[in-house]
Amino acid sequence: MNQSSRTSTVTIAGAGLAGSLLAVVLARRGFDVEVFERFADQRRVSVPAGRSINLALAERGRVPLARAGLLDGVDRFALPMAGRMLHEPGKEPVLQRYGQREEEVIYSVHRARLNTFLLDAAEQAGARIEFNRRLQTVDFDRRRCILVDDSGGEHERDFGVLVGTDGAGSALRSAMSRVMKTGAREEPLDHGYKEFTMPPDAGGRHVMDPNALHIWPRGGFMMIALPNPDGSFTCTLFLARKADPDRGEPGFDQLEDWPEQKAFMEEHFADAMALLPEVRQEFADNPVGFLGTLRLDRWHLDGRAVLLGDAAHAIVPFHGQGMNAAFEDVACLDELVAEHGDDWAKIFPAFEKIRKPNANAIADLALKNYREMRSDVRDPRFHLQKELEWELERRLPGRFIPGYAMVMFHTLPYAQALERSRIQARVLEEATKNASSLEEVDIEAAAREARAALEPIEMPSGKSGSG
Ligand SMILES: Cc1cc2nc3c(=O)[nH]c(=O)nc-3n(C[C@H](O)[C@H](O)[C@H](O)COP(=O)(O)OP(=O)(O)OC[C@H]3O[C@@H](n4cnc5c(N)ncnc54)[C@H](O)[C@@H]3O)c2cc1C
Repeated sequence: MNQSSRTSTVTIAGAGLAGSLLAVVLARRGFDVEVFERFADQRRVSVPAGRSINLALAERGRVPLARAGLLDGVDRFALPMAGRMLHEPGKEPVLQRYGQREEEVIYSVHRARLNTFLLDAAEQAGARIEFNRRLQTVDFDRRRCILVDDSGGEHERDFGVLVGTDGAGSALRSAMSRVMKTGAREEPLDHGYKEFTMPPDAGGRHVMDPNALHIWPRGGFMMIALPNPDGSFTCTLFLARKADPDRGEPGFDQLEDWPEQKAFMEEHFADAMALLPEVRQEFADNPVGFLGTLRLDRWHLDGRAVLLGDAAHAIVPFHGQGMNAAFEDVACLDELVAEHGDDWAKIFPAFEKIRKPNANAIADLALKNYREMRSDVRDPRFHLQKELEWELERRLPGRFIPGYAMVMFHTLPYAQALERSRIQARVLEEATKNASSLEEVDIEAAAREARAALEPIEMPSGKSGSG
């Protein structure tokens, strides 16, 4: 049995977003990196449609890309979004800015485009990627893994150290669970999602404002749309899988046939419906995607194997942070490698210790943000509290940072962002409880309370230098 934790050969299972960025940084540090990916090379053949076509990239995802020298390349196909464009029935869409500073924007990136860009970068850095190789089982004692190709052929490979970036359904996680207690807990969300395409107009232009994330909040459910560089939008309908007639909440189970689908879309999303020519076909073709939170107690098997990204901590997508968190994982592991070289038995526990509380925190924040996106954004009290947040941010720079901004525009660890958000929420709640406008709020008192309850944080937070 080979228990040595020092090896310069790193095997990565899964060449998705986290796996390919990790391959870049480890290959650049001189490791011998090989990556196995279950699907064919998406640069050459089209692969089965993955989850979510486009993703919001935030500051904490940009910083690791910048560290790897890849941000300028990504920015060539990233579209900035300055806020949420709210679509309410019978009203003109209204923009709610995400932040009060010009540079406080998030970026819409096409998943496949980002992934292929990162695959190119990984190969240029010297990583070897084998496609059509699905990790099936692992013999940790012999440090050997069994991979399967799409004709069912088995391939054995020895590994030095194994990293699982094979996503929420991780095969490495399952293999680890057979030899140790990972303490995996899955918390499925009762809501699922379905994607639709909003094509460009005849001139190839976006049919709605491309510098915003569009939202149709409807209380118990919602639809969102993110712009793509080709002039299209990808729309995602989030809805309960099963209707709840007692609470009057609709569900995907009521939308099996076109007449019901059409009636539902026309009732709740009339303005979007007119811009979705393929919606009937897409209802039939696109599956209802599963959403849930995954938490583990243990992310590594001594110095032999570790999980990273969704494989360790899948979260619901409502803060747009799964990929961003996965990129932070990569940067964290890279920093630990810089410190400890190839001493994986030191690196993996340290990685878990740093990242696990943060993964748990963003899981909680993401669940909370679902409520905010589908319902709170319609509440006048929510807007009053937003106004007050911005006022307190102006008065207490470096101390009071709105909750959304801490997650999206700063690199403050998620666990700290969660803790500070809770304190700030109490201040906001207390200050606005009897007010209907900012003039009725005792801002001085709120600022005093916030100053007493919040330590200053280092400003400015790590910036990606991307402007
Ligand atoms: C609807 C939706 C919207 C989202 N929006 C956002 C957003 O706006 N912003 C954001 O930051 N995040 C978002 N996310 C989350 C984001 O998609 C994930 O957090 C991110 O993809 C995680 O990257 P990963 O590399 O860990 O996993 P994945 O991207 O899932 O990559 C896993 C890779 O492993 C491969 N693989 C799987 N099993 C095996 C195996 N057995 N052997 C070999 N290879 C294997 C897969 O083919 C894939 O290439 C969203 C998710 C969903 C579902």
